[in-house]
Amino acid sequence: MQNRAKEGIIISNASELFLGPVTQYEPVYSNEIADAIVIKNGLVEAIGETSTILSNYSKFDYDVIDCEKKQTICPGFVDSHTHLVFAGDRSHELRMKLQGKSYLDIAQSGGGIMFSVNKTREASRSELETLALQRLDEMLLHGTTTIEAKSGYGLDAESEIKILEVIQYVNEKHPIDIIPTFLGCHITPKDFLGNQWEYVESMIQLLPQIKSRNLAEFVDIWTDKGAFSVEESTLFLEQSNELGFKSRVHADEMENVGAAIMAANLGAVSADHLLLSEAVSADAMAEANVVANLLPATPFVLMSKKYANFRMFKDAGVTVALSSDFNPNCYVLDMQTVMALGCFMMKMLPEEAMTASTYGGAMSLNRENEIGSIDLGKSADIQILDIPTVDSIPYRLGVNHVNTVIKKGKVLVQDGKKIV
Ligand SMILES: [Zn+2]
Repeated sequence: MQNRAKEGIIISNASELFLGPVTQYEPVYSNEIADAIVIKNGLVEAIGETSTILSNYSKFDYDVIDCEKKQTICPGFVDSHTHLVFAGDRSHELRMKLQGKSYLDIAQSGGGIMFSVNKTREASRSELETLALQRLDEMLLHGTTTIEAKSGYGLDAESEIKILEVIQYVNEKHPIDIIPTFLGCHITPKDFLGNQWEYVESMIQLLPQIKSRNLAEFVDIWTDKGAFSVEESTLFLEQSNELGFKSRVHADEMENVGAAIMAANLGAVSADHLLLSEAVSADAMAEANVVANLLPATPFVLMSKKYANFRMFKDAGVTVALSSDFNPNCYVLDMQTVMALGCFMMKMLPEEAMTASTYGGAMSLNRENEIGSIDLGKSADIQILDIPTVDSIPYRLGVNHVNTVIKKGKVLVQDGKKIV
């Protein structure tokens, strides 16, 4: 594809064109009649019927990608909750989980989160960069064009900064856009057990440096039983707010300690997990415009029966995002799998799962004006899938359907292979 020499790209004859919510313009088109889009200067320039578009653009020199009524066009996935940077393989723990060993058993045998923390502390920056770039390539091949990435496997000043520097570096290096989040308050590391307030204070002390070096746009904290209390989290988030950070919260996952309501009270952009949230939390989130970021791969790999109540959030008027929660205990880089889990485990309809995986993710990152739907003037972050409809993503389970990925108008994946 020599699209550099051409004026832009026309993608025609989609079997389905999934635009997502149209926010900025009157809908002069609909998903039913539009089956083509035009990309110019990295942006979506036109949306319409193939015959009209081809005749309007016949005088110009555009590359044409013909979907031959067999392929579906969607926005690129926005994976808005990932722990991209960590070292150490924990695949051996699966065997222990399957044999009925508890989280505590695994931690006591040297596994679990502190295993990842130790390996990440030991790893050099370049080792972490290589791992992150490989993971980003894998995400791109599966249709993801923007992610959020957290620190949180360093848990001391030096290692947390190292992870944020790695995120900054790979963001410059890789075409996937990365929105960085500081999750120093992921858990309390062993060296601070019994001194949790002191640990929170030590992470608060890092905030000015992170801000001045622009190493994170968001902060995050795990507010839960066994993690950080509402009081500790409130102090941390108030200090972050004062310095101008946006915030997101790991909330209501193991126990409902009121974390989602705290997120709403403190103006967080996103509250994530929410397995145990109740209607009162959903109402508070709706009132405060907090996105409900649901991560069904996590309970799936934990073999839990408890999933977030998607319909409760939707009915309360909360914007819902779906994301992978990619981390050493939930090694899922593929948003098509996450969509399928959203459908099968949370009864989301395929179009709801697709909207949550694109526009919802963009909302949870404050990027809804630039990405997350196919709309005039928005970034041309597009995927073309070898399936007739979005419904086929969960239906034809377990296959990577992505044929083409376009980021900011540039074709990066073609015929399922990375080309740049
Ligand atoms: Zn997480």
